[in-house]
Amino acid sequence: MNQVETIVDLRSFVRQARRAGKRIGFVPTMGYLHDGHLKLVEAARQQCDFVVMSIFVNPLQFGPNEDFNRYPRDIERDRKHAEAVGVDLLFTPSVEEMYPHEVLTTVSVAHVSQPLCGRTRPGHFDGVATVVSKLFQIVQPDAAFFGQKDAQQLAVIQQLVKDLSIPVDIVPCPTVREPDGLAMSSRNVYLTEEERSQATVLYRSLQQAEQLLAAGERQAAVIQDQLTRTIAAESLAQIEYVEVMHYPHLKEATELVVGDQILIALAVRFGRTRLIDNLITTVK
Ligand code: AMP
Repeated sequence: MNQVETIVDLRSFVRQARRAGKRIGFVPTMGYLHDGHLKLVEAARQQCDFVVMSIFVNPLQFGPNEDFNRYPRDIERDRKHAEAVGVDLLFTPSVEEMYPHEVLTTVSVAHVSQPLCGRTRPGHFDGVATVVSKLFQIVQPDAAFFGQKDAQQLAVIQQLVKDLSIPVDIVPCPTVREPDGLAMSSRNVYLTEEERSQATVLYRSLQQAEQLLAAGERQAAVIQDQLTRTIAAESLAQIEYVEVMHYPHLKEATELVVGDQILIALAVRFGRTRLIDNLITTVK
């Protein structure tokens, strides 16, 4: 595995691979790798011949009171993981490399960026859309792999690629969970023991949603209420949102009908740690 820190070096390695006729797969991350990230690499290896992973904690997507400075970082550990799962090229640019000047051009995806995390993290998805557009320009991959754990981010990126005719296949990959159901996240390391044990309520509530749907519940508000109650029963949980939306255009759902593709999305804080999780399903 090669590791590069500059855009010039990255391009030179990717050019070589493309000249050799290889299909380029790309896995953008913020590092502190876990099995969720590694599954994206696995999917990329299955569909591509040359896999590029980026590790970049993007300041543009963090609000002023968010965790940019304390976001967990360990490049040495990540390097080993990336190499072990078969990443061909690891791109670890500095903030100065990515943003050497004041950024005057940003990418903003209307509507899908507004609800859910867009409401509580203003500017977050503009930061994501901007850095992903920039990384796509730098790497020019044939395919890019994203986790459904960040369902709204995935919807934003799918819209962005469509609107700007960016020639990259966006490949959604399923959420990877801990044995007790907690969705893997680099932020899970922030949780205290008690918070960690209560945090399983996110997955439990999504399972409850599946059961409600299977039992024929069609009122989004009822599902929302029941899940809110389940989560609120955990003493340390502070709910940011529990929402049922049509997916992927993210319009609010009220009365569900068979065939609807829906997203049930949660954001819950435990102490200083904000966790998200979701269920994407089709109403049967
Ligand atoms: P992050 O490093 O958190 O920015 O995530 C980088 C990529 O990994 C994004 O496409 C995420 O959706 C994906 N990802 C993060 N956690 C998981 C997970 N538990 N399962 C699947 N994909 C994930």
